[in-house]
Amino acid sequence: MTGKNIHVTVWNEFLHEKKDPYVTKIYPEGIHEAIAEYLNKKPGIETRTATLEKPEHGLTDDVLNDTDVLIWWGHMAHDRVRDDVVEKVYHRITCGGMGLIVLHSAHHSKIFKRLMGTSCNLRWREDGQRERLWVVSPWHPIAEGVGDYFEIEQTEMYGEFFDIPKPDEIVFISWFKGGEVFRSGCCFHRGQGKIFYFRPGHETYPIYHNRTVLRVIENAVRWVAPVRRPETPTILRAIHAKPLEDLK
Ligand code: ZN
Repeated sequence: MTGKNIHVTVWNEFLHEKKDPYVTKIYPEGIHEAIAEYLNKKPGIETRTATLEKPEHGLTDDVLNDTDVLIWWGHMAHDRVRDDVVEKVYHRITCGGMGLIVLHSAHHSKIFKRLMGTSCNLRWREDGQRERLWVVSPWHPIAEGVGDYFEIEQTEMYGEFFDIPKPDEIVFISWFKGGEVFRSGCCFHRGQGKIFYFRPGHETYPIYHNRTVLRVIENAVRWVAPVRRPETPTILRAIHAKPLEDLK
């Protein structure tokens, strides 16, 4: 991959698409390829994909060291993700500044729970009803081009309470037809890394073909991408500091 571009790796457990013919119809190549195909058409972004069943889940040292932004989709196989791979991803984020975008049911992924330190449990119901996502931080780069709100005609409901630490910023709040609300777009900082949790994406609806959803993911890629700056030494170890002024 080349110099100045943002290098994105889209990770997907890639199981529903192979097991459920209904999901295969929506995502013949998998959710990861649908997202990668969109991002690869955008200026300054180069995207590769990785899946659970590849060696090291496709997240080798070479791939992780060349990844600025990791996008994570998982649902039925969170437990099959190796703990040592999760630790490597955790340190790439907190010490290396890699950005992470956590999609939908990846709220229960090992990496998100490791970064949050809470259960990340929530209320849910698969009823195929409408969701309206309100922009509550209109100045935030992740909301660029979205307008006051956008709607998804058919989706799974996620409701509060969502057991996460208080986000640094909330970009979207969802309303559902059943009356629930949910913090659907949440920003966090952990060490040098930025994290964005984005709710839409249940596998039985064509949500990653929705242009607004994809636009938000693109905006989030640009926001969580690392800021190029010299290494911050105290990220790696505590430092005994010599005074800059003469203290005598
Ligand atoms: Zn779901």
